Amino acid sequence: MSNGPIEESLLPDTADLRADGVSVGGVDLRQLASTFGTPLFVYDEATLRARCREAASSFDDGVAFASKSFLCGAMARLALDEGLCVDVATGGELDIVLRSGVPASRVIMHGNNKSADEVTRAIEVGVHRLVVDNFEEIERLGALVDAQHPANVLVRVTPGVEAHTHEYVRTGQEDSKFGFSVATGDAREAITQLRAIAGLTVHGVHAHIGSQIFEFDGFRESIAVLGEFTRHDDFDELCVGGGLGVAYVEGESAPSIREWADAIRISVRAAGLPGGLRLLAEPGRAIVAQAGVTIYTVGVVKPVTQRTYMAVDGGMSDNPRPVLYGSGYEAFDVDRPLEARPQEVRLVGKHCESGDVLIDEAYLPRETNSGSLVATPVTGAYGYSMASNYNRVPRPAVVFVRDGAAREVLRRETFDDLARLEVSG
Ligand SMILES: *Cc1c(COP(=O)(O)O)cnc(C)c1O
Repeated sequence: MSNGPIEESLLPDTADLRADGVSVGGVDLRQLASTFGTPLFVYDEATLRARCREAASSFDDGVAFASKSFLCGAMARLALDEGLCVDVATGGELDIVLRSGVPASRVIMHGNNKSADEVTRAIEVGVHRLVVDNFEEIERLGALVDAQHPANVLVRVTPGVEAHTHEYVRTGQEDSKFGFSVATGDAREAITQLRAIAGLTVHGVHAHIGSQIFEFDGFRESIAVLGEFTRHDDFDELCVGGGLGVAYVEGESAPSIREWADAIRISVRAAGLPGGLRLLAEPGRAIVAQAGVTIYTVGVVKPVTQRTYMAVDGGMSDNPRPVLYGSGYEAFDVDRPLEARPQEVRLVGKHCESGDVLIDEAYLPRETNSGSLVATPVTGAYGYSMASNYNRVPRPAVVFVRDGAAREVLRRETFDDLARLEVSG
């Protein structure tokens, strides 16, 4: 199965695969590569908007897009347009989002180690919700917040639940750097301290148990703990975080945002939580992953004894997920999307690391060779946002496509950009 043509369901919603090419958002991928160069991140606006709308209509007002999965001004505005708040976790993310024109009243601020400056700015601009993570932060808030400078907060708690996912992206267990433990009584103590600060309103608790989760058991267990914990608090919100998984490779399938929300509502009722509670979440990956495709140009093709290495003009600097998590991807030839893919290669990047592998066993058409355009689907999440300049490789451009038109939302970095931090003389 793996060497049949690429599975269309991995591509963005508007992808059109023909014998001689692929278009997304009505724009030919080969055309995009020739206009903007490679590597290139291409996002289908229709897919982004549809997923945002699905999240906005499945949860209650205040549901947010987790911007760390992919952030630029255009993306922040798109999420706002489609009815979502925007989640940030650092001063840098907050700054980009505010610069983009998203009002602070639609921003949610996270962070397990917010600096004094970060907390101060979040309170000054008046973010919609600050998600409080630790006792040091409560002390800071005590000094900053009063009746003239009010703040609205959620309390990040660790429900003591092990999500079924990679240990690096598991966050709900007791042994975690995030949040206050329910089991030890810290979460209760935090709520008591926060409620003693005049001008500060505690709207509820927040838990985020991990990422790339396909099964709802972890969410169910977490909500059961939170239901028990907040039974007598009279809160008006509950945020279950993000974490919904997506299919990256053939044969995988993931629940939709709507199915996830339905399962959460059932768990909330089962936990005996009040019906009027605003039910919130913060999907990142589920909104942006499948909307994005990365196009590369194949350079060196090197057969060795055991296999063939096919090197592209990017690699771990634009997609570190295979290196970080051992994540799998598929590949297709932009000029031959309907052909079988009998050629097995190891798709690697141009960085000076043996570990710079994009796809350990990639399948491509027999004709794919040096000069071919190869694309990897489902690269919209945690690719550009985790991109680096390792080996001083400039970061790729990002284009949004829609209704037959492409617009560049982030330009390709230049060598001048790379040199801009050098302090001379
Ligand atoms: C990372 C993160 C998210 C988004 O996670 P996804 O798996 O991309 O949906 C949401 N909330 C918090 C607090 C996070 O840390």
